[in-house]
Amino acid sequence: MNIYECSVCGAPQEAKTCDRCRSRIRGALAQLPEQYVYLCMSRQRVQGGDEDGRSSKKLHAPLPGRGDVLNMLGPASRQAVTGAEDQVGSVPFLEVLWSWCEAVTEERGLTPVRRDVTSMTGRLTKHLDWICEQSWVADFAEEIRDLVRTSQRITMTEPRRELLGGVTCPSCEGLTLVRYFPGDWAAECRLCPSVRLDERDYQALVKEQARNLEGVNP
Ligand SMILES: [Zn+2]
Ligand SMILES: [Zn+2]
Repeated sequence: MNIYECSVCGAPQEAKTCDRCRSRIRGALAQLPEQYVYLCMSRQRVQGGDEDGRSSKKLHAPLPGRGDVLNMLGPASRQAVTGAEDQVGSVPFLEVLWSWCEAVTEERGLTPVRRDVTSMTGRLTKHLDWICEQSWVADFAEEIRDLVRTSQRITMTEPRRELLGGVTCPSCEGLTLVRYFPGDWAAECRLCPSVRLDERDYQALVKEQARNLEGVNP
């Protein structure tokens, strides 16, 4: 069996993309339809007036995130985006998915998919194993991850992060271990993509480092 470096995280692997990165990409794709719904709801909130419909005629200071939301939603909201706000931020949500879908469709000789978030994430997920073999998988992973992060920031559904103090990363030895929640319990290093410990391994690491410390200061 050939040994590669994972194209995404660099860990030594038997495949071009390691299982952990593959399942992270799969997880990110799975979140996108829901994030898109949240984004559309955010747009209604910033564009709509009060229930009596009159307040939309008043002058408002722009709400935070408004430009972000409109940028992310892209062409669907074109008439509401002024020149100054146009595309200063993220590439529109559907545009990112569409360009990757086109790459898959063309290179694999498939029939084009419908330009909606469910169809597009469905196609990308279905061909994920093939995508993970391509030279551009790292770019793909990064753009999908950015899409999730930017959407989560706008829709305020970002996972929260807890610093796991007092224990150093087994790889870079920094005080960089964090845990994201909600989600499965895992200690991850902010700097080393290959470090991800489940609760048992993390507790073992805590004990091991405490023992080493006792050895230094008897
Ligand atoms: Zn990897
Ligand atoms: Zn580290």
